[in-house]
Amino acid sequence: MAKNDDQNLLKKIVSHAKEYGYVFPSSEIYDGLSATYDYGQYGVELKNNIRNYWWKAMVQMNENIVGIDAAIFMHPTTWKASGHVDAFNDPMIDNKDSKKRYRADVLIEEHIAKIEAKIDKEVAKAAKRFGDDFDEAQFKATNPRVLQNQEKIDAINERFAKDMAEENFEDLKLLIEELGIADPVSGSKNWTEVRQFNLMFSTELGSLADGASKIYLRPETAQGIFVNYLNVQKTGRMKLPFGIAQTGKAFRNEIIARQFIFRMREFEQMEMQFFIKPGTEMEWYENWKNKRINWHKSLGMGEENYRFHDHLNLAHYANAACDIEFNFPMGFKELEGIHSRTDFDLKAHEEHSGKKLQFFDNETDESYVPYVVETSIGLDRMFLAVLSSSYEEETLEDGSSRTVLKIPSVLAPVKAAVLPLVNKDGLPEKAREILDELKFSVNAQYDGKDAIGRRYRRQDAIGTPYCITVDHQTLEDGTVTIRERDSMEQKRVSIDEVVKEIEAAVDLKPLLKSL
Ligand code: ATP
Repeated sequence: MAKNDDQNLLKKIVSHAKEYGYVFPSSEIYDGLSATYDYGQYGVELKNNIRNYWWKAMVQMNENIVGIDAAIFMHPTTWKASGHVDAFNDPMIDNKDSKKRYRADVLIEEHIAKIEAKIDKEVAKAAKRFGDDFDEAQFKATNPRVLQNQEKIDAINERFAKDMAEENFEDLKLLIEELGIADPVSGSKNWTEVRQFNLMFSTELGSLADGASKIYLRPETAQGIFVNYLNVQKTGRMKLPFGIAQTGKAFRNEIIARQFIFRMREFEQMEMQFFIKPGTEMEWYENWKNKRINWHKSLGMGEENYRFHDHLNLAHYANAACDIEFNFPMGFKELEGIHSRTDFDLKAHEEHSGKKLQFFDNETDESYVPYVVETSIGLDRMFLAVLSSSYEEETLEDGSSRTVLKIPSVLAPVKAAVLPLVNKDGLPEKAREILDELKFSVNAQYDGKDAIGRRYRRQDAIGTPYCITVDHQTLEDGTVTIRERDSMEQKRVSIDEVVKEIEAAVDLKPLLKSL
């Protein structure tokens, strides 16, 4: 069964994440704050491990990429220059009957996705009928029903892109009405006008008495990189092409924040801006698309779960853009964006600051503003991708069941648990000795409570890839059993070997080498 056939999967993941210390609703004792979450004891480890793999892949593995950590608060003119004050808006629309608020663009995109699903269904049916002889491209180019639906999609997309570019919200509303789009909750088609809504949070710097100035919480980390372009280029003696990477919090007052940690108002981004010679951007754009998809695939979460989606409505700063989409429980959705941002940002900062932000090219003896290709991934969305692709409910041969998180070992919060079979006869002491050895290289944990079977289930639910069981034989010959989470296979090995085996199995090196 495909994962997203299970309508309840997201709900199950939310409750599992809470029950096992991954993600808690924020300030829960006060009934929580909408779309805000806290990461618990295992969640923070998983988050750190994802961030660490990204950082190593981007910064450590690339001689010409360095990292920074810019402040969340920035000079307010930054956001004027970047276009966020004037253009970081989403079109919102309310349903008059249900009083629910929606993003007008998302309503249209979801409508298009429904038509796309019809095409996919036709294709799947035909593939079944024709078997090995099936030629998908030819079928799509000739089947009348597919062609009709594709024409519909193209017509909607054309009008939608034009409306968005021209900010023609009257027509956007008309389009919603003409397509017969109904409120997904109530089925009502009684809509308000479409209005623009700026997504930036603002606050005051300094006390009001001092004549405080309005500042914003950064809606993306990228601008912290742009304003430091020259600092890094000069102090690091960087030559084009080179990149600056950064991870950190970003804030957006999303009109509708839902679907757990997929869309939050406070979230974390991992971004890299790659500064290049103008004219080389399409080459670098393709290069980074490849590099980033390889990073995702290296984790082994199912190649079929990723796809590229090219942007039709290009943002104000981009000349090419696409998303890497992941098959979340609610379907394929954006996980990462790859954008060719031209010289839009640096030029805008030059104009607003009056400072030159250029590169002197020794080869051509000229100065110019570099172009930029950026990769931007949401850490929380990546976290959800890992959780949702690893969550499984299994029925075992003996008829019992288990819930297991098959998290890639390199990302698992706890790499190994050391379990004394019984809490006597010197077994706990021996188990602690092993833990004391393991803890220098990996995050390991001691678990001595409950029957051994229940402890295995608990570690499965946390996603611990290895359980090391210490029994009476351990005291005699220095061997332990090691149980692997996914296969549940157990084998006996010496204590020295077990430590080496676990270190090797959770080592990032083979993944980094595969990139
Ligand atoms: P969306 O279309 O889903 O709103 P976006 O295109 O506005 O996303 P970008 O501005 O390209 O997103 O941001 C880069 C990445 O940051 C996204 O691919 C996503 O992983 C993450 N991200 C953006 N907004 C949020 C959010 N509200 N909550 C969690 N992650 C987010």
